[in-house]
Amino acid sequence: MSKCIKNFGLEKFYPIMKLVIGYFVYIATSSGVIAAPNDGKKCESVNAIISAEFEAGGMSSCSSFVPSIFRVLIEPEDEDSIGRSAWYAFKITNKVSTPIVVELVYRGGEHRFWPKISRDGRTWSRLDSSMFKEVSEQRIQLFLQPQDNPYYIAAQEIYGNDVSLNWMNKMVANNAVSRSTIGASELGRPIHKIESNSGNNTKEYIFMIGRQHPAEVPGAWAMTSFIETLYANTDLARRFRDRFGIISVPVVNPDGVALGYWRNSTGGRDLNYTWGPFVHKETLSVKNELDRFKGGDKLKLFIDFHSTHGNLFYTQRSPGGEWPSDMTRRWFSGAMPRLNNYEFEHIALTTDSGMKNSNNYAYHTFNVPTIIVEAGEETERLTIQNAMVVFAEELMRVMLGS
Ligand SMILES: [Zn+2]
Repeated sequence: MSKCIKNFGLEKFYPIMKLVIGYFVYIATSSGVIAAPNDGKKCESVNAIISAEFEAGGMSSCSSFVPSIFRVLIEPEDEDSIGRSAWYAFKITNKVSTPIVVELVYRGGEHRFWPKISRDGRTWSRLDSSMFKEVSEQRIQLFLQPQDNPYYIAAQEIYGNDVSLNWMNKMVANNAVSRSTIGASELGRPIHKIESNSGNNTKEYIFMIGRQHPAEVPGAWAMTSFIETLYANTDLARRFRDRFGIISVPVVNPDGVALGYWRNSTGGRDLNYTWGPFVHKETLSVKNELDRFKGGDKLKLFIDFHSTHGNLFYTQRSPGGEWPSDMTRRWFSGAMPRLNNYEFEHIALTTDSGMKNSNNYAYHTFNVPTIIVEAGEETERLTIQNAMVVFAEELMRVMLGS
């Protein structure tokens, strides 16, 4: 906290003292027990309002015992929400010009994501390290100065369904691309796909999905950059589109995204563990779309975009003789000299891991190579986007050369 106080200046000494005293009163009285929230995903004191009542907002409850101290409870949507991508996102409105402390308290998981801050909900930066303290893995204190306008604190930048839909519509406006709906989520949200306009000829296809796991926002940046590169106005991309059709489903789990879930769908399961039997509407919609490749059009490659601790690729070669031959080595050897500050791990899968996930399903059903792209959760977003341009271009080269 001392670093934080240093930044405020002497004129704010008195409110800080009140805050510190209030905090000790709070510690003395709360005894580690979470009080009932003021109003579900919203709480208010005479000093500030905290609310998660917006798309992708995330917290279980919040409460305020003294005007400058807030406690935000963060819990997974389901007990078995593995991966523990502890999502939080809330808006703070200061009512008076007094600093506040917001304590994040985790149950059923632990703190994972470096807090991000945004004044407008669109431009984000990492919260300065002097502004928060990790008391334990399940208790984080944020020391926040008053702002004139409401602002956001979140685990990752808020990347809601509206952002994805705007991106798809922009792709349609600027490229030979169509958007349509392939189904609906458990709660009725549309599941969109965008597809290159390929005419009537039977084609070979690349099929991509993303956002099975709502908290994995960097995977969305990776996917959009990758797809934009496939549609770029370059000779390479034009030749690629002449030969290959492109289909993508950018948000497989729109309910989880909207509700600020850590990992699961509203069906109570991790969608990426239920690729057969297809008990969830979301994955069933994608499966039905993939069924077109059981005759006529040919699926040649399947990619699923995610995010984890570091940059990582899983590749799974096709079972019936690799196509394109030596694909992974050629792909990475083309990409690596061109990458700028993008270190990554590669895990080569040669057999089915036995998990009921998307890549195993595509691998088994269509005998195609599959790739899982994992973008690092704290990797700078522009770095991810620039790297994906390189990976998309080099993959096009390999596929066209086959
Ligand atoms: Zn994931």
